[in-house]
Amino acid sequence: MSKDHHYDLVVVGGGPAGSSAAFAAAKNGVKVALIEKENSIAETVRTSGVTWIESIKEFGIPENCYNPIKNFSFVSPNNEVTISDSVATAAVLDVRKTYRWLSNEAEKKGVDIFVKTNINEVIRNDKNDIVGVSGTGINGKIIFHSKVVVDATGFTSTISKAMGFVTQWKRFGAGAEYEAEVENINSETWWLMVGQEYTPAGYAWIFPLGNNRVRIGVGVGKPESDVDPTERLKEIIKKKLGPIKKLGKITPIEFHYGLIPNDGLSRKTVFNNLILVGDTAGQANPLVLEGIRYAIKFGRVAGEVASNAIKNKKTDEKALYPYEENWRNAIESKINSAGKVQDRWIGLSDKEWDKELDIIKELKTEEFLDFIKADFGLSNMIKLAMSHPKLAVRQLFNLVKGK
Ligand SMILES: Cc1cc2nc3c(=O)[nH]c(=O)nc-3n(C[C@H](O)[C@H](O)[C@H](O)COP(=O)(O)OP(=O)(O)OC[C@H]3O[C@@H](n4cnc5c(N)ncnc54)[C@H](O)[C@@H]3O)c2cc1C
Repeated sequence: MSKDHHYDLVVVGGGPAGSSAAFAAAKNGVKVALIEKENSIAETVRTSGVTWIESIKEFGIPENCYNPIKNFSFVSPNNEVTISDSVATAAVLDVRKTYRWLSNEAEKKGVDIFVKTNINEVIRNDKNDIVGVSGTGINGKIIFHSKVVVDATGFTSTISKAMGFVTQWKRFGAGAEYEAEVENINSETWWLMVGQEYTPAGYAWIFPLGNNRVRIGVGVGKPESDVDPTERLKEIIKKKLGPIKKLGKITPIEFHYGLIPNDGLSRKTVFNNLILVGDTAGQANPLVLEGIRYAIKFGRVAGEVASNAIKNKKTDEKALYPYEENWRNAIESKINSAGKVQDRWIGLSDKEWDKELDIIKELKTEEFLDFIKADFGLSNMIKLAMSHPKLAVRQLFNLVKGK
């Protein structure tokens, strides 16, 4: 026998986008269900968890959820640069703790959380618009009727695919990492490693978590390279390549693997009674494949817009459009600029990477951080493209600007 539930808003996917959408909608007074297929929120970690202190403060993430980072080291086969800040601007999240904090905040606002519930079908009305979802829960078939659905299922985009609105991402990043205990690490310094031996398309990383814990990983751009990130990760650890050697003995604790879309902001993200958010919407910075802060920020916007629409009893595409307008205004041009830099980076040879690091050395700390965050303010870009004393830096920023 199936069990029927009735909600104003159903959010499918208990990642950062889903929990944030559920939180904001419940805060705005509507009845919300948040559905997660795993046994608990963040049971499986699929991300490295780097983000920015500014966003952490904006979202109110507690201090015990992250390790602050002040120094940014970049290594190519024959070059190295470390850019240091006087205060910590970046952080590595304890992903499980942070994602659970996000879902707890939603629960505190009255959201009903259903775990172990795998959604695989959509319910449509006679106009073919979505009016609910169904799947398998703890006690068998389960049905959720709702006025609006938020698809926050991440890379798989289960709901949008079931509606026939999207197909599988064609360009994406695949990443593998070990969370490990190591003998030596400066907990305030992260390492990004580039060049063919680390990965033919992408970068490798060491992100410290504090208490001699790190995440060591490899990301590979698809379809640009057919290298398996897990195999490559094992190889670079075995070879003790570059800064990995300095870590001393490495004792793996947990393995993480994930996929992140890299097709740009190609998807439409609102339909009648449906919003796409987070990785489902492709909201990720392609340069460093960073999406958590966008998932939280635009998850909250999605929840607010959806709940306002529900309260106004008008939930068609037009009523939900302010969500798409909001996130496009905030990040579309930045993500497009970052895509141009990524296109340049993905084809660099080892020698060219060595030279690229010479250009990065010329950047001031805040310029480097804006660059890596894809926070390309237009005036800042124009200034750098026009008047930076080094020609190579001017050329790089001209490319970002699109000239
Ligand atoms: C290797 C790797 C490293 C990364 N590193 C970083 C980083 O350092 N910093 C950063 O900001 N971003 C990073 N990202 C990107 C970041 O992880 C994503 O952008 C972010 O997780 C997107 O959040 P989300 O909520 O949209 O999706 P997800 O986090 O993928 O959450 C989706 C949730 O939906 C659930 N779900 C899926 N299908 C169903 C279903 N049918 N029914 C019910 N539940 C379902 C899943 O179990 C999951 O819990 C990385 C990604 C990868 C792959």
